[in-house]
Amino acid sequence: MGDVLKIERLDALVFRAPIAEPRMNAFGAQTDRPAVLIRLVDTDGVEGWGEVFCNWPSVAAEHRARLAGTLFKAMVEGKNFDSPETMFRDLTAGTARMRLQSDERGPFDQTICGIDIAAWDLLARRRGQPLWKVLAGDDTANGAPDGLEIYASGLAPPSAARLADAARAKGFRNVKVKVGFDQNEDIACLRDLRRTHGTDFGLMADSNQAWTVAEAKDWISAADDLDLIFLEEPIAADAPFTDWKELSTASPIPLATGENLRGRAAFRGVVGLGGVRVIQPDVIKWGGLSLTRGIISEGRAAGAEIAPHYLAGGIGLLATAHLMAACAPEGLLEFDVSENPLRDAMTLPRPDLRAGRLHLPEAPGLGAGPDFDSLEPFRVTL
Ligand SMILES: [Mg+2]
Repeated sequence: MGDVLKIERLDALVFRAPIAEPRMNAFGAQTDRPAVLIRLVDTDGVEGWGEVFCNWPSVAAEHRARLAGTLFKAMVEGKNFDSPETMFRDLTAGTARMRLQSDERGPFDQTICGIDIAAWDLLARRRGQPLWKVLAGDDTANGAPDGLEIYASGLAPPSAARLADAARAKGFRNVKVKVGFDQNEDIACLRDLRRTHGTDFGLMADSNQAWTVAEAKDWISAADDLDLIFLEEPIAADAPFTDWKELSTASPIPLATGENLRGRAAFRGVVGLGGVRVIQPDVIKWGGLSLTRGIISEGRAAGAEIAPHYLAGGIGLLATAHLMAACAPEGLLEFDVSENPLRDAMTLPRPDLRAGRLHLPEAPGLGAGPDFDSLEPFRVTL
C-alpha cells in the first residue's frame, strides 16, 4: 500500500453502562453493556479509532483493555508499519507463542481487531478519504452507496413484540429474534410478529448454537411456514461441515453463521462443504477489517449472502458499515436495538438511520468519533 503508519501512542478506554432489563441469549444474559475503544495517534497527531469485542464474560472489557494497554501498546508505540495489514500480521505473529501459552485466542484476536480498525481509520483520515473508499481500494469511486439495508436485532422474549413495534416505527423493515429458549414460545413469538407486521416485514431467528442437528430439524419443521430470511447458528459454529450440510440440505430456511467462526478455512468450509447461504463475519471479533475484506469477497464469489454480525458500540458499527459499503453494499447489516447507551451516545455525529437504511457520514475515516461528553459518565478507570 506504500503508506507508512508512524504510531506514537495507543490508548485503550473502557466504558460500562447499566441497563434496566437483562439482554437474553440462549446461552446466558447480559446485565450491563460494556465497550472498549482503541485510540491510535500518529507522530503528526492524527487519530484513528477502533473497537474491541467484549460482550462476554462480564469481565471481558477490562481484560482486553489491559491487553491492549500493556502487551500491544509496547508492540506499536514508536513503531512504523507500511499498512494496517502489516500491523495486523506483525501483532498476530508477535503474540503467537503467548496466545498458545495463555490459551487466550479470543481476547488476543479481538484486541488486535480493535487496533486494526483504528489503523484503517487513521490511514483514511491521513488520506482525507472516507474509510469505505480506502477499503475499496478505488480512488475513482464517487459517492457512498445510498445507505445500507439494516435489520433490528437484540429482540428476545418477553419484550420482542414491543421492540419490533419500536423498530418498525423507526423505519426498520427487518427484525431478528432470539430463539432457542422453548420451541413453542419461540414459534409463537415469531408467528405473532408475522401476523402483526404482515408478509413484507423481514423476519430472522437466532438460536445462538442452542441445538443438535436433530433438534434444529425439529424447530425448522415447526417454523417452515414463517418465511424467515435466515436462521442463525442453529447448531454449534464448530460443528462438522457434514452436520451443516445435513441441516442445510434439509432446511427450507437459509442457514447463517459467522460470528463465532475464525479463519478463512472455517468460512470456506461452512459455505462450500456445509451449504450455508449467509455468512456473518464480525470485524471486532475475528479478522478485523484487514482479513474480513477477503472473507467477504470470497464468500460472495462462492454465492453466499453477506450479513455482518455486530453487537457493540458505535465505532465498530461504523467500521462494519464502511466495510459493507466497500465490499458488499447489497448486504444486510445487523443493528442491535436493545438498550445500549454506549451505542446511542458513542459517536458524533449519531448514526444516520432513514427508512431502514444506515447512511454513512462523508467526513474522512469513519466519519465520526467518540462523543466524550456523553460517554464520560460510563467511563471505567482501570
Ligand atoms: Mg447471533
